[in-house]
Amino acid sequence: MNSSTTYDYAIIGFGAAGANLALQMAADAFFASKSILIIDENLSLPITKKWSFWSTAQETAFPIIKTWRKANFISTEVNKEIDLEDYHYRTVDANAFRAFALNQVKKHKYAKVEACEVLHVNEEPNAVEILTNKEKITAAHVFDSRVTAEFNHYIDGIKLLQHFKGIVIETESPTFDADAFTMMDFRKPHEDTCSFMYVLPFTESKVLFEFTFFSHTIVSDQVYDGAITAYLNEYFPATKFTIVETEQGVIPMTDYRFHQHNTNRITKIGTAGGWVKPSTGYSFNNSQKYAKEIVNRIKKGERLSKKLGTKEGAIYDTVFLEVLNHSNAFGQTLFTQMYTRNHIATIFRFLDEETTFCEELKIMASFDSTPFLKSILRLVKRNVFGYPKSR
Ligand SMILES: Cc1cc2nc3c(=O)[nH]c(=O)nc-3n(C[C@H](O)[C@H](O)[C@H](O)COP(=O)(O)OP(=O)(O)OC[C@H]3O[C@@H](n4cnc5c(N)ncnc54)[C@H](O)[C@@H]3O)c2cc1C
Repeated sequence: MNSSTTYDYAIIGFGAAGANLALQMAADAFFASKSILIIDENLSLPITKKWSFWSTAQETAFPIIKTWRKANFISTEVNKEIDLEDYHYRTVDANAFRAFALNQVKKHKYAKVEACEVLHVNEEPNAVEILTNKEKITAAHVFDSRVTAEFNHYIDGIKLLQHFKGIVIETESPTFDADAFTMMDFRKPHEDTCSFMYVLPFTESKVLFEFTFFSHTIVSDQVYDGAITAYLNEYFPATKFTIVETEQGVIPMTDYRFHQHNTNRITKIGTAGGWVKPSTGYSFNNSQKYAKEIVNRIKKGERLSKKLGTKEGAIYDTVFLEVLNHSNAFGQTLFTQMYTRNHIATIFRFLDEETTFCEELKIMASFDSTPFLKSILRLVKRNVFGYPKSR
């Protein structure tokens, strides 16, 4: 590479956000003559993640592991099978998605992929200098998926974690119903926490069981393992299986204003940009949607630093998180009310911030109001209603 080249765009991180953004750019004629640099330090390493998401699309451009049209929601009170109506719930293997995206991006005449570590970025008036472990590069605009270190010190607002460990097991003979996945099974929580089992049956003999918390602190591996073992012993006794994969992760569920780190020439993306939906921990849908929105903003010459997502969505997320923040064990009741009193299509559209105000009122009305009113009061008192200070 010519060291004097200034790229039009540099994307740091080719994960869910970076790959979706690169895909959107590469597919749009507006960017045909633009130079796009993609930098990722881990391109040759396997990713131990699967991304699941819902959508009404009949098919996807990229390969998926499995699509479900039915879901289960289970708590100590209800066992509900939910027809997903127009929605499909899909799981994509992160490696297959990355390979697909790389292949597409490489068709772009001026796209370049660099496998190196970004050490530092420095914004100058006319460009951004990117210092990597190999060289110094400049770009007119940088999309950066590195989570800012400042987030680690955030203590003024809500900082819950979605943390989990899962195992993919294989049985010798068909054992499971592969038609419906389990969004949440609250029957065997860990102590007084919002914790549940998430179950993705890829086939009748290959299933992911993931024990998940929406709570303040992570737990030891023994806790996740113990919860999975207890669950399998109780609901699938005498089932012989082999563990073929494991998946573990921690995802922020927070009201932190990630977009405050956006500048004129640097836009934070992905988890680092606040693309994780705070109330769910999902970000794959947002990665597709926000990548499209960024491309539209570029084409219209609009400011890229402005927060993505709706103001209303941010407020609902904050109120919802504050309920869990204050009364973590209340999670089971909260989700039971949500999944048993609303249509799944409305829930998905609400979580995608696509509902009308009227639909939002109906969803709000489906919850017992007291915890929410108390949550709003606490937020008002703390003066952190969606706009907490950060350190
Ligand atoms: C195990 C797990 C499972 C998840 N499952 C789901 C799910 O099912 N559905 C869903 O919607 N969300 C899910 N999430 C949440 C979220 O969608 C993912 O974390 C998603 O990968 C976030 O996208 P991202 O682009 O911000 O980060 P990543 O996908 O992690 O990508 C960041 C990229 O940046 C690179 N990078 C980082 N630092 C540097 C550096 N200094 N220099 C160069 N490159 C760098 C990394 O190598 C990486 O490739 C999951 C999260 C985890 C941890």
